[in-house]
Amino acid sequence: MKIKKIIFFSFLLIVFFLFRIINSKQKTIQVKEEPEIVIKKEYGIVVNNYDFQKLKIQSGETFSDIFDRYRISPIMVDKIQRYIVNNDIFDFRNIRAGNNYAVFSTKDSLSRGEIFIYEINYVDYILFDFRDSLNISLMQKEVETKNKYCSGVVETSLWASIVDSSNLSPALLMKMSEIYAWTIDFFRLEKGDKYKIFFEEKFVEGESIGVGKVMAALYQHKGNQFYAFNFQINENYDDYFDQNGKSLRRAFLRAPLSYSYRISSKFQKRRLHPVTGKIKPHLGTDYAAPQGTPIIATANGKVIKSSYTKNNGYYVKIRHNSTYTTQYLHMLKRGRASEGSYVKQGDVIGYVGQTGLATGPHVCYRFWKNGRQVDPYKQKLPEAEPISKDYIDDFKIIADSLYNILDKI
Ligand SMILES: [Zn+2]
Repeated sequence: MKIKKIIFFSFLLIVFFLFRIINSKQKTIQVKEEPEIVIKKEYGIVVNNYDFQKLKIQSGETFSDIFDRYRISPIMVDKIQRYIVNNDIFDFRNIRAGNNYAVFSTKDSLSRGEIFIYEINYVDYILFDFRDSLNISLMQKEVETKNKYCSGVVETSLWASIVDSSNLSPALLMKMSEIYAWTIDFFRLEKGDKYKIFFEEKFVEGESIGVGKVMAALYQHKGNQFYAFNFQINENYDDYFDQNGKSLRRAFLRAPLSYSYRISSKFQKRRLHPVTGKIKPHLGTDYAAPQGTPIIATANGKVIKSSYTKNNGYYVKIRHNSTYTTQYLHMLKRGRASEGSYVKQGDVIGYVGQTGLATGPHVCYRFWKNGRQVDPYKQKLPEAEPISKDYIDDFKIIADSLYNILDKI
């Protein structure tokens, strides 16, 4: 009796599985019989029901030309223009030849445009949607961020030529020079300096659109290791700190030019003057640079002199606080900041020239400490605020993981 029962249930089980196998085979066959519809999307919109074209704005072409071509009435174009101005979306006059645009038009003989796209840049685009009522919106493509790593050895002391000899892009070099503007004198790089960089690269639709944020960097200069760790202090503000949470910023920038120029004469007590031929102290540092190169304020301060003399040419003098004052000579022309106005570190205060007593285009940078002219490169300059106690524990965790990433590059 028991054996019979077992046989019976085994039989049931076999029948059940056979049924399932047959059934699943039938299902497979059914799927194959149905025609496959591939849904294609562009800018997040299904294109299957439209004629879709992606084109480039031609030189001299206007939005009106394009709308007209796809049978949008002049009254409607006028309406669009007003809508855009009122909602502060985009200035129609800023249309740029070479930028992409796309049209979704009806498949019938009318070929009327129903949806238009204009790409303002790699990321932002305007969507003109005529399907129901007029709808215009500013949209953004999805930006993908990928982590990138690079390292190298500096083969030349000239900052500008590093771009050619290394695997760094000019944009990444710019970021490095900004991060280390207070720490490393990029006018005096040494052959054999080493660097490691962990940074983000941005991609849209699989294409690189440029360098994102530098997350961490190490620069080895004359045996010293300079770490830079990015730390997000709040939603709107992030900055770079060393391994101890000290800010890489200083009250003063190392130089009054952004980068890639040459020190033509150092601060010295005795110098044979190139124009007068007399031995005189040179109480400044000369940076040779092409005429017109922007000269920047090395620290926040108040313009106390913006003037011209026979020797200085056009010059600007800035008082930073009761201790420090700086002066910038031989300008081609001065910037907008007039006497009495305040400037911020990095603001353009003039342009390199050779007015006054000068043999070639350069800026003579002079530095006063407590009323005495000194060599800024020999001073221990004030530092910016370190990370506050509230954030130091968070910072240490992040810096540790960034340190490990750099270590593996
Ligand atoms: Zn000078």
